[in-house]
Amino acid sequence: MEMRIPLSSPDIDEDDIAGVVSVLRSSRLSLGPMLGSFEQAVAEYLGITHAVAVSSGTAGLHLALLALGVGTGDEVIVPSFTFIAAANAIRYVGAQPVFVDIDASTLNLDPERVESSITARTRALLIVHTFGVPAEMDSLMQLAKRHGLLVIEDACEAIGAEYKGRRLGTFGDAGTFAFYPNKQITTGEGGMVVARDGDVAASIRSLRNQGRRKGDSWFEHSDLGYNYRISEMNCALGLSQLKRIDKILERRAAVAEEYDVLLRGSSELTLPPLSLPDRIISWFVYVVRLNARFSAAQRDVIRNSLVANGIGCGRYFAPIHLQPSYRSILLEKLHLPVTESEAERTLALPFFNHLTKAQVMEVAENLLGALHP
Ligand SMILES: *Cc1c(COP(=O)(O)O)cnc(C)c1O
Repeated sequence: MEMRIPLSSPDIDEDDIAGVVSVLRSSRLSLGPMLGSFEQAVAEYLGITHAVAVSSGTAGLHLALLALGVGTGDEVIVPSFTFIAAANAIRYVGAQPVFVDIDASTLNLDPERVESSITARTRALLIVHTFGVPAEMDSLMQLAKRHGLLVIEDACEAIGAEYKGRRLGTFGDAGTFAFYPNKQITTGEGGMVVARDGDVAASIRSLRNQGRRKGDSWFEHSDLGYNYRISEMNCALGLSQLKRIDKILERRAAVAEEYDVLLRGSSELTLPPLSLPDRIISWFVYVVRLNARFSAAQRDVIRNSLVANGIGCGRYFAPIHLQPSYRSILLEKLHLPVTESEAERTLALPFFNHLTKAQVMEVAENLLGALHP
């Protein structure tokens, strides 16, 4: 159903359109100059040397794990309260996702529970910065160091977010970003992997392009690769969007603040924190939580009443360990109390750059009306 106020909407301006059109006129549609320019612009923005653009964030996660040598017999710690792609990528390389519960205040991995989930087979931490809120990086990086674990950051929801002055995605051995149309900046479809090590980056470059190493000819394939390339049109759009990322992130923070002002009086809601010590949030979505007295069914009634009024509304996230595609691989029934309880009471509200103040007010009024009839 078409929503009068959608849950999300991309922000495409005339420069974006001109950038894509100029690629179309150039007749160089893949592996051209836009690819390198987009990669370099993202690398510079993040303050890291190696960035490799790929066809999606999911492809980026897959290649990051492959290039770091994660595979059969390895366990990788990952939250269940996130998008399914994070855990799927672990399965693509034959490793086992080990789901760890979250901290209810940040909705990110709880470092204490991470530590108690580490076994002799744990190979890596896949740290997700959920909703653009930086995870507890000091404790998680210390844990990884102490136990000799690889760190992959899933920063697909967190471009531009910072922890102690450093941009997310640059802490671990590799970091991934995604540019689907609901993300802070979009390429239509697309993603980026950043890596600390040049050899890892070179592997990722080869794997995205059918296993062609630098110096290989078109029909020489050093590695078992994939086609995870991203087109020049996508890169041109990304480059153009990245030019105004500061403005985009500022605008998103302003929308979050508008919601906060209108909703903070409700005793039935827990709102996302507008700021956290040592962190800069990059706003991906605006997700409120109904208080603990609400059941999942009651949450869905409220969601349906907003949807009936033409207001897009989502339930971010449905825990991964409860998905049919995971129930079958989990050896025993897994119970993650915080993840399960929080996920039952989340409501994602319409959130995008050009959401107007009047629309924010309409959403807030509808939500408050449904909560306090
Ligand atoms: C969006 C997202 C991805 C995947 O990105 P795609 O480009 O859609 O493949 C991975 N992880 C998280 C946490 C995401 O939000």
